[in-house]
Amino acid sequence: MEEIVSLSDEADPRNTPTQREEGSGTADGRVVESKGKDLIVFDKVSKVYYMGEVEVAALRDVDLAVREGEFIVILGPSGSGKTTLLNLIGGMDTVTSGRLTVNGRDISGLDTRGLTDYRRTQIGFIFQFFNLIPTLTALENVEFALELVERDTREKSLRALEMVGLAERAHHFPSQLSGGEQQRVAIARAIVKSPPILLCDEPTGELDYETGINVLKVMQRINRENGQTIILVTHNSAIAEMSDRTIRLHSGEVAEVIETQTPKDAEELVW
Ligand code: ADP
Ligand code: MG
Repeated sequence: MEEIVSLSDEADPRNTPTQREEGSGTADGRVVESKGKDLIVFDKVSKVYYMGEVEVAALRDVDLAVREGEFIVILGPSGSGKTTLLNLIGGMDTVTSGRLTVNGRDISGLDTRGLTDYRRTQIGFIFQFFNLIPTLTALENVEFALELVERDTREKSLRALEMVGLAERAHHFPSQLSGGEQQRVAIARAIVKSPPILLCDEPTGELDYETGINVLKVMQRINRENGQTIILVTHNSAIAEMSDRTIRLHSGEVAEVIETQTPKDAEELVW
């Protein structure tokens, strides 16, 4: 019998980024990235902050689709709207106009309870300043994220620490860990619930070169091995070379979208 190969995402629910074929060439020889289906879709999204009389348009008419399993880097100068973009995806803020859908669901229409549930099940957040709880050990910090969701937390938390290479530091407090180790605890905390989307706001901003590379290696591994979609905001344009696509924001607008022809391994990056 003839084998039928479907190219449609919808046709095969088993399609995951890691199982996809390599990108195929177009007529003009360009290679098209073929990750999963569209996961996060911005449709003419604007975000305006009101400060007294003054209106600040943090995002203007943003159209953007992030595919399942993509590693996206967002570049842009300070004040260009990078954090606002992440906060909208993370359900920590709501759009002023336009539509933002995640997995086909319009999250601009969710009420407080819906948003809380969305954040808890779909989103992992990694910040510039780690945001660990100083009185809890590495393991307890990771468990803390999970306790909000389920009961049996120890084994999963240890596994998350193993994933970031910190199993042997499990019982150390944040003050006993280096900056890079603290950031890796923060990554473990973000991934322990296996959220499909990881949002990272300047995750290497406080780290020296070597430590930053180690943190990026962990993120790349999570993206490649677990297929989690990663959106990473940074000032550092060298990090763009490990992305599948880079989006450059300028004054709240998408100024440029660049497909990376051959994403680099994190350890190859230089700055
Ligand atoms: P970035 O992360 O690229 O530095 P932000 O998304 O934080 O940029 O900010 C974009 C613009 O929106 C800036 O002009 C900033 O001052 C403004 N802004 C961000 N958050 C708020 C807020 N909560 N209230 C008022 N203005 C804000
Ligand atoms: Mg910011």
